[in-house]
Amino acid sequence: MQRKRCFLFTMITFDVITIFPELVEAFGKESLLKRAQKKKLLKIQAHDLRKWAKDKHKTVDDKPFGGGLGMVLRIEPIYKAVTALKSEARNSKSETNSKFKSSQSKTILFTPRGKKFTQKMAYEFSKFNQLIFICGRYEGVDERVAKHIADEELSIGDYVLMGGEIPAMTVIEAVARLIPGVVGKPAFLKERLIKGSGGPKNGFIEYPQYTRPETFKEWRVPRVLVSGNHQKIGEWKAKHGQIVGKQ
Ligand code: SAM
Repeated sequence: MQRKRCFLFTMITFDVITIFPELVEAFGKESLLKRAQKKKLLKIQAHDLRKWAKDKHKTVDDKPFGGGLGMVLRIEPIYKAVTALKSEARNSKSETNSKFKSSQSKTILFTPRGKKFTQKMAYEFSKFNQLIFICGRYEGVDERVAKHIADEELSIGDYVLMGGEIPAMTVIEAVARLIPGVVGKPAFLKERLIKGSGGPKNGFIEYPQYTRPETFKEWRVPRVLVSGNHQKIGEWKAKHGQIVGKQ
């Protein structure tokens, strides 16, 4: 079912649960994401999973049942973290709108076994008010998190990373740039839509870009791009454009 963004809410909150919160905090403090947060278009919150550990050593992992190498993130602190963050969102949203529903919040677990993240999903996610990301580490996360806590398991590609933080940041960037006001003018996004395709879900055209100087060493930019002939430029773009994100 298509979801419509609820305009009574002013911003989308990305809650990232990780054992390396500094990684995600640094990411939110630069460039357009920093500006977007200042403008209250979105909020990026990194949460240290150890905050929800119960022992004095703040343990969040344990050995896998059945044996095997490495450690697995435990379900209990993750369950507590997700519950706390959902309730925090409910309470803070209710200050502005009492109708905040759990359906406006989505919990995503990152795993290379998950569904492949796409531009279409980025559009769908941009309609939520809260996105909770669970970043795995070590040998992964207790499978009951996928079964009982997460709404969705996502992969950013067929390779194995050391943790879910880069996948989380990837999804944040892809979703954030779709929020009106984050990437300059809305036309920046619209102009690359495929004409007559029925909307962004059917993909974008991405074409090569050049800037000054016109000639660097012996490498010239395509002459048509500096010709001033907009029709020819349009034809060149159509010819060299590639469709990205078509489902
Ligand atoms: N066997 C583990 C699994 O299936 O989740 C892989 C563990 S990996 C070394 C550690 C963590 O990195 C994962 O739990 C996941 O959160 C994250 N991760 C690694 N590669 C990923 C990918 N391609 N997409 C999304 N998350 C990934």
